Amino acid sequence: MFAAVLALLMLISAYIGNQNVRETRQKTTLNLETRNALLEQTRLLRVHLLEAYISLNVFLLDPELKKYQLKAENNIKRTIDITDSFKQNIWVKLKKESRLIYTLESLLTTFKQESAALILTRLDVNTQYPSLAVGDDLMRPSRKRFQNAIALAISELQDIQMLKKSPAIYQEFIEARHLWSQMLSHFRIYLANRVGTFNELSLPIQEQSIEILYTELKSALQDLEELRQQGRLTFELENTVVDLQQSSALWYEGFVEVKRIHNSGEWRIDSKIMKERITPVIEQISALLTLFENKLSLAAAEDIHLTSETARSQSHILWLIAFSGLLFIIAILISIEMLVFKPVSMVTRALKREALTSEPTELPSVQSQEMQDLITAFREMSTQVHTRQCALEHQATHDSLTSLPNRILLYDRIDQELHRSKDSGKNFCLMVIDLDHFKDVNDTVGHHIGDSLLIEVGKRFREILHETDTVARLGGDEFAILLPETNDDSSIEIAEKLIQTLDQAFIIDDLQLHVYASIGLAMFPEHGDDAQLLLQHADIAMYEAKREGHPFAIYDVGIDEFSIRRLALTNELPSALANNELMLKYQPKINLQNNSIIGVEALLRWEHPEFGDVPPLTIVDIAERTGLIRSLTEWVIDNSLKQCRLWADQGLDLQVAVNISVHNLKDGLLVNFIKSSIEQYQFPASILSLEITESAMMSNPMHAIENLTRLDELGLNLAIDDYGTGFSSLSYLKQLPVDELKIDKTFVIDMLDHHDDEMIVRSTIELAHNLGLRVVAEGVETAEASLKLKKMGCDIAQGYYYGMPLYHYEFEKLLKQLISSA
Ligand code: C2E
Ligand code: CA
Ligand code: CA
Repeated sequence: MFAAVLALLMLISAYIGNQNVRETRQKTTLNLETRNALLEQTRLLRVHLLEAYISLNVFLLDPELKKYQLKAENNIKRTIDITDSFKQNIWVKLKKESRLIYTLESLLTTFKQESAALILTRLDVNTQYPSLAVGDDLMRPSRKRFQNAIALAISELQDIQMLKKSPAIYQEFIEARHLWSQMLSHFRIYLANRVGTFNELSLPIQEQSIEILYTELKSALQDLEELRQQGRLTFELENTVVDLQQSSALWYEGFVEVKRIHNSGEWRIDSKIMKERITPVIEQISALLTLFENKLSLAAAEDIHLTSETARSQSHILWLIAFSGLLFIIAILISIEMLVFKPVSMVTRALKREALTSEPTELPSVQSQEMQDLITAFREMSTQVHTRQCALEHQATHDSLTSLPNRILLYDRIDQELHRSKDSGKNFCLMVIDLDHFKDVNDTVGHHIGDSLLIEVGKRFREILHETDTVARLGGDEFAILLPETNDDSSIEIAEKLIQTLDQAFIIDDLQLHVYASIGLAMFPEHGDDAQLLLQHADIAMYEAKREGHPFAIYDVGIDEFSIRRLALTNELPSALANNELMLKYQPKINLQNNSIIGVEALLRWEHPEFGDVPPLTIVDIAERTGLIRSLTEWVIDNSLKQCRLWADQGLDLQVAVNISVHNLKDGLLVNFIKSSIEQYQFPASILSLEITESAMMSNPMHAIENLTRLDELGLNLAIDDYGTGFSSLSYLKQLPVDELKIDKTFVIDMLDHHDDEMIVRSTIELAHNLGLRVVAEGVETAEASLKLKKMGCDIAQGYYYGMPLYHYEFEKLLKQLISSA
């Protein structure tokens, strides 16, 4: 808001400043133009004035040159016109200089008038030369009077009587007349010299001559005066002498006046006019013009001043704007610092603290709403992050299904326990628990029940243990238990308790489920002093327990060899398979009705040069884990059919049964392989029987069912193996496309001693028959068992009583013996 107002103010002042400058510029530009015009006019005026003056002077020299008179008059007129135009000038009006112009005008008018007078003067000689006027007015009458008088006197004296009577007097008059005429002629030359300016330098000499002549004339007249006074003159002559004296004196008076004029500057009146009336006017005009020009220059200076003033005020405004802008920026920076940077760095620090310490951070509140929002958002985020972090931490350290600690947390706890026990010198126990046949539970009753079962198992373990004990789920059906500060004896006690707690069946979804477990124990420090080793040893002990069929086992260095062996076998199986180091043994299947051999079951063998006979279940397990199971099964099928071909070629019609892993069942390529193998060895499909365990049969993903159906459609014989160990009901199995049911050997072997098992065998046979299935009893070790089975209606028997699994050459030897003994 403040920023907007300031920006607006800045804009307005910038606009006004700009307007000011523009106006001033316009004004000064106008002034400048007007002034320039005025100056030009003034200059022109001066030129005309000068022209007029020069023309006047030239005219004065020679009035005959009429054109100079006109030129002078024209130029004067022009000056007046120019002055007239000044009156209309804006600047003159604006600056109120009209009075100056009027003065100028009146001076020019005077100049005009005086010039006119001058011209007139110059054109009239008498007016031009005042001395001539004096000659005319004063000297001519006295001259005439003198001349008349003396002429009269002389003519009177020329009378002979008179002349005889007074010749001296006559002489005197003649003398006077002579002096007079001489004086006059000198005067004429003098005048000519002056007016004509023929010889100015001779003027004083001429003046002197005239004065001398006059003095002489005066003395001659004085002589005559004396004669008059002596009465020697006639009356007429007496008057003449007086006349002569008076007129000559008057004339001389005139001469004195002429001399004065000639020696003054007024001997020419035009010069006088020029000097006294025109030149001062021109000087005044010039001075006035100078004043006017000065005023114009002053105005220019004023303009410059005005421009610089405007510029200065403009720059002041600009400075003001810049300064307020600066203040504004500083204010903004300060407020940004206060409202944004500080809170942001606070939030940043808090975030860092948060990130490093994972503890919720207190944030001070701030003034700015946006910052407050940010902080609130941060708090919310922080809370959410904390919640999520806790959830994530829990997720990362706990098993999602059972919510028990997972492997990571278990390792952590073991590490802590290791530290504590190393300090206190006490023992602790680590157990690994694996549920037996749990896979079957999953396969038969479904994963979701399997999952619930795992949760319940975890709960039961947890219930019988202390808070300080850790129950962790390692994955699948594997659990681990950490018992701090526990020795061997109490560890075994707890292991037994754990087994016991599973005795009671679990009820899940109305299903009664029995769970058995194998426990491996490893003791610190006896069996290892780091978490991994202890866990590995507990694991080995657990496998040992499973292998031995014991509920639990304590780790023993001896059993470790088992795991080393398994590792070696895993590494060697691929090459063993490729190099035909694996072999097949064949166990006969006997038709109980006529005791004839109807076929064989192919059983896998691996006589390892170092470890001896490797159990087929181990080979299969390794193959399943290492992805070799398809190759392995194909190898078995190929070799069995090859063997059958050989036997068939020898005239022995034997069916061959091959064991199929659950993995094979899910493999769509198996059907094609079997089909092409049968074709390759030119057998009907009925030659091959596939034995699939009950649990494998029950793991019924779409693929398995589909493949079973396709195998059945090929015309193969499909058998359910190890029947009785899983959880399937016969009514369920009947939906599968199977032909044969093999009762698991544990029931058959135990059948003679346990009535329960006998009942199971009997009812199974009956039910299977009802469902149209052929029944095979495996594990027939005695004649007694075989007899019983025959009575029960069992179709086929297989077991040591009839024959051990044998290599093909051994089997052929046995066959020959049988044939020869028959
Ligand atoms: P199985 O399919 O139940 O095979 C019968 C097992 O019972 C064989 O053990 C055989 O030696 C044993 N047996 C036969 N008659 C008697 C008897 O009278 N008494 C007793 N106690 N046992 C008898 P074997 O050869 O050790 O095979 C174990 C299991 O390994 C087989 O059980 C089968 O599930 C699996 N197996 C063997 N060969 C293969 C194979 O090529 N592929 C697959 N996937 N599994 C195989
Ligand atoms: Ca079998
Ligand atoms: Ca079996």
